[in-house]
Amino acid sequence: MRAMGVVAKGAKCGIDGCDEAGARSLGTARVEAAGLRVATGGKKAVLCRAHYKEWKKESKDDRDLERARYGRP
Ligand SMILES: [Zn+2]
Repeated sequence: MRAMGVVAKGAKCGIDGCDEAGARSLGTARVEAAGLRVATGGKKAVLCRAHYKEWKKESKDDRDLERARYGRP
């Protein structure tokens, strides 16, 4: 696609079904690991602000979940 540099001007969010303006660019694998569905097949996925927030939340939750699981008797 036309992703050049961090976030190409005018790039749209790469999440399936989302049409917001892109704010951050992340590796597609990391985005999918957080449970978000990326519509593009590239190595990098562009996320809008809302989805970037969601991604951050999801990745943090994952870590907290792991810790909670192992920390509990
Ligand atoms: Zn989005």
